[in-house]
Amino acid sequence: MTDHGVSEPAKKPGGIGIPGILKGLATTARTMAKPTHTAEYPDAPPHLPPRSRGVIALLEENCTSCMLCARECPDWCIYIDSHKETIPATTPGGRERQRNVLDRFAIDFSLCMYCGICIEVCPFDALHWSPEFEYSELDIRDLLHEKERLGQWMPTVPPPSALDERSAEPAEIGATTRPGRLVRSTPARPAPTRATPPPGPAPEPTPPTAAPEGPEPA
Ligand code: SF4
Ligand code: SF4
Repeated sequence: MTDHGVSEPAKKPGGIGIPGILKGLATTARTMAKPTHTAEYPDAPPHLPPRSRGVIALLEENCTSCMLCARECPDWCIYIDSHKETIPATTPGGRERQRNVLDRFAIDFSLCMYCGICIEVCPFDALHWSPEFEYSELDIRDLLHEKERLGQWMPTVPPPSALDERSAEPAEIGATTRPGRLVRSTPARPAPTRATPPPGPAPEPTPPTAAPEGPEPA
């Protein structure tokens, strides 16, 4: 700080002039000798982690049109249309059932922020991350992927990672491998039978026994 309250410029490390130029050239030479880390995309495809968030794939068979993903999406960029279909009863006297039929499922990737909430909340594993990312478009409206296009990403979804060896068996797997409930084969108990009375006259009915007379006990 000078007497007039003006700050002096800070001294530059390395000095100025010829020594500074030589130092810069030395740095350039050192960097040239090092291997480059530049990825020459698209000639060389990048090595992405297998579970990268590239695009969202839809397994249409699993979707029940429950609308959970559309309601939870913070960008409101999932569009679902469905209608109800009546399934006739399969047994005489049975009840008809109704089920949702998916008419439209679309994600607008021009709005999507790849948060993954829709995938997390889907209770039926209908949405999955695919590492594919090469779907840029010249027209932003083409980033609206309908269910047919979302379904085409499914083959690119990597299989789920292996479970930890020491983890407990998932309940879903346990339910499928568990044997059916065993019906215990207990021997049938014989029905109670009445004793057959001996042939002859029926015995006289026994009169009720009278209580002995006497003073009441104290
Ligand atoms: S990743 Fe997030 S923003 Fe994109 S569709 Fe799913 S919930 Fe919406
Ligand atoms: S994708 Fe999942 S959460 Fe979304 S409507 Fe279908 S079943 Fe429901």
